[in-house]
Amino acid sequence: MTGNQDGLNKKPIAFVDLAAQQEKIKTRIESRINGVLNHGHYILGPEVAELEKKLAEFVGIKHCIGVSSGTDALLMALMAKNIGPGDAVFTTPFTFIATSEVVSLLGATPVFVDIDPQTYNIDPQKLALAIQAVQANDPTIYPLPRTVNPEPLTPKAIIPVDLFGLPADYDPIMHLAEQHDLFVLEDTAQGLGGIYKGRQAGSLAHMAATSFFPAKPLGCYGDGGAIFTDDDALADVSRSIRVHGKGTDKYDNIRIGLNARLHTLQAAILLPKLEIFPQEIEERQRVASRYSKGLSGCDKLTAPYVPEGYQSVWAQYTLLSPERASVQEKLKKSGIPTAVYYGRPLHLQPAYSNLGYQQGALPVSERSAQQVFSLPMHPYLQDEEIDRIVSTVLQAV
Ligand SMILES: *Cc1c(COP(=O)(O)O)cnc(C)c1O
Repeated sequence: MTGNQDGLNKKPIAFVDLAAQQEKIKTRIESRINGVLNHGHYILGPEVAELEKKLAEFVGIKHCIGVSSGTDALLMALMAKNIGPGDAVFTTPFTFIATSEVVSLLGATPVFVDIDPQTYNIDPQKLALAIQAVQANDPTIYPLPRTVNPEPLTPKAIIPVDLFGLPADYDPIMHLAEQHDLFVLEDTAQGLGGIYKGRQAGSLAHMAATSFFPAKPLGCYGDGGAIFTDDDALADVSRSIRVHGKGTDKYDNIRIGLNARLHTLQAAILLPKLEIFPQEIEERQRVASRYSKGLSGCDKLTAPYVPEGYQSVWAQYTLLSPERASVQEKLKKSGIPTAVYYGRPLHLQPAYSNLGYQQGALPVSERSAQQVFSLPMHPYLQDEEIDRIVSTVLQAV
């Protein structure tokens, strides 16, 4: 299984080790699950409210709304702001499809903005150009999507993504949003636990969406997600959308909504996980700094960059190498799993061929997509394992 050729008895290295975490808190998880089996409030039971309160405290924000997935959290936030046909939503193409999928589902149009080559997050200077280009309906200012509607798009929202666990650069983004009256939705599906200039990810925009998909830094044992906001009205609307657009109850329907509740059982599983999350974040820092120290000085690789005043939660530890394929192959032979996030930027996905983006339109994203790969990253990686991965990477380049 490990493919070790050197005959040493080494246990396989996991890309993400959920079993090690479970071993640590299994009795607490079981007792929380038993609690749900005993009280039987399977839909929006007390664990959901308890988790929402604790997560809001963790993030330092007024409202947390537990929902069915990260994708639904993004969708509901845009629904709460009535984003729809004719609206331009600016976002990065170097992310998971969910970020822009929700824009398209609502009939709005994603306008893809290239990324900063060091952080892989949306580039605020290019964002300014893209807003200007939409306002002037002039693709010579910045590449714009083709639209079926002859009417020019109206700039409405920005979705920055805290990619790989590193918050986007919110000061200039929020400044642009204020200037142009745009709504900002933080996609922090990978970012919960990250810090930007003293503030927690999830609190950095008008609303935020996170995911509890099992492999995320804070994951449950199924699908789940949450919305964060300080805005009372947006929180109310989100809670209504979560239950079929309910007014006083779910048979009083005051808007079109969804069935998008966080499961009580998933909340019960998340509660003990949230208890150890701060420690796990520390362990993630240990792993990342040991990687970075070991790989520093290797000029054939670009290691992740964390700007001053930021903390990454290291959802991924991502390297950049022009020789990606051969490096990955050598690592695989030594029993070290790697993964590519993301091999194709969204503007070049077949699902978006209707937008008419050309190869070369967003060059930093396109080059990154060809060169990035991620190393195993989880809080339970041992120092010896990290050292073994580092030396194998150094040999492979
Ligand atoms: C995982 C992810 C999502 C979607 O979350 P789900 O819970 O899987 O729906 C959205 N955006 C980004 C950046 C993600 O990594």
